[in-house]
Amino acid sequence: MTDCVFCSIVAGEVPATVVVSTDRVIAFRDIAPQAPVHVVVVPREHHTDVAALAATDPATLADLVEVANEVAEREADGEYRLVFNTGPDSGQSVFHAHGHVLAGRRMAWPPG
Ligand code: AMP
Repeated sequence: MTDCVFCSIVAGEVPATVVVSTDRVIAFRDIAPQAPVHVVVVPREHHTDVAALAATDPATLADLVEVANEVAEREADGEYRLVFNTGPDSGQSVFHAHGHVLAGRRMAWPPG
């Protein structure tokens, strides 16, 4: 997909601090962290959002969640929030499916 920053990161064309890389997903540090641990986990293949990923490739969505948990186990004793912004009103700004792993501080509820 052209003009997709996460596709460019997957292709190695845009630099990122990658923390996990598998056949199907990669995880890298968010460029604008909202918590002490803020890692974005994305499928290597382009899907617009998590709903599209779930519909077409549920095995990769399962991998994504497993990698998110692995990051949190390693960096935050396994306590974390996993966020999938879906659609502009939710705050989604990059239209390549991704989960935010947020951890390392107490989270507020409801989210803003
Ligand atoms: P969302 O707003 O849910 O679509 O999340 C997109 C996230 O991607 C935001 O938290 C951005 O800070 C992050 N982001 C955008 N560009 C980059 C980049 N080049 N490297 C790392 N994170 C990025």
